[in-house]
Amino acid sequence: QKQITRLPEWLKTPIPDTSSYKKIKNDLRGLNLHTVCEEARCPNISDCWGGSSKAAATATIMLMGDTCTRGCRFCSVKTSKAPPPLDPHEPEHTAEALSRWGLGYVVLTSVDRDDLPDGGANHAAETVRKIKSKAPSMLVEYLTGDFAGDLEMVRLVARSGLDVYAHNVETTEALTPQVRDRRATFKQSLSVLKAAKEAKEGLITKTSIMLGLGETEEQLYDALRRLREIDVDVVTFGQYMRPTKRHMAVHEYVTPDVFELWRQRALDMGFLYCASGPLVRSSYKAGEAFIENVLK
Ligand code: SF4
Ligand code: SF4
Repeated sequence: QKQITRLPEWLKTPIPDTSSYKKIKNDLRGLNLHTVCEEARCPNISDCWGGSSKAAATATIMLMGDTCTRGCRFCSVKTSKAPPPLDPHEPEHTAEALSRWGLGYVVLTSVDRDDLPDGGANHAAETVRKIKSKAPSMLVEYLTGDFAGDLEMVRLVARSGLDVYAHNVETTEALTPQVRDRRATFKQSLSVLKAAKEAKEGLITKTSIMLGLGETEEQLYDALRRLREIDVDVVTFGQYMRPTKRHMAVHEYVTPDVFELWRQRALDMGFLYCASGPLVRSSYKAGEAFIENVLK
């Protein structure tokens, strides 16, 4: 596989320093919340945290620990067959801290917990319920794994009171075996998104695809068509960035123009909205997009 090492201009970003971002960062101190935004040093933090209003401000929180039972080839999260047990107080503490923070839109995400009989679904659902009872106006998105194809668990989370059910297919069907953990398949991910959509009327479903892994236009169109067939509402596209040399190589740095082209194509195919750009992550300005496109 060809290797590209030089970073193009459009991927170099300044350190965020807007005043609203600083204020929110200050608010966060003492709440004991671990945001993916800070821990992954996400370049979008000033866009997401310091968005157009506090009601639209978005942050991503990681639940169920920092150790995953899977090992996808693009992901830097550490792996173990037996991660530490869940913290039974996490749902309560997370809800309490989030309600004090007063954020508009939270994206919850968790590692895959194949070691637990329910894959962590009850813990996830409880966290959403607690957030909604302490901060009823907060919009909640949950980015879940595939629960090893257990659709009862998908339905349990989908009916917990959340506003957006997200599950990432990550790449095209053809590239899935090279990119994701061998326990993940494209079809299984489609069945997760379908079950979530059917579980609750009005629930928004969302997925994300990385570009730059060597996918072809035809493969991407195929993925988008099949996502639309099961009524997935939202898709996002971002550039794959190699976390370390041990992870799979970047095949290509896709230009901003091509990202814009795929955004247009997704909208033409009937997706409700689409964030697409080299630095876009699935949670990128999710609050603003939801308020503009769903609550309007
Ligand atoms: Fe946080 Fe996601 Fe926004 Fe990055 S894109 S700052 S991880 S909410
Ligand atoms: Fe990373 Fe998710 Fe794959 Fe686990 S399942 S290795 S957290 S991408």
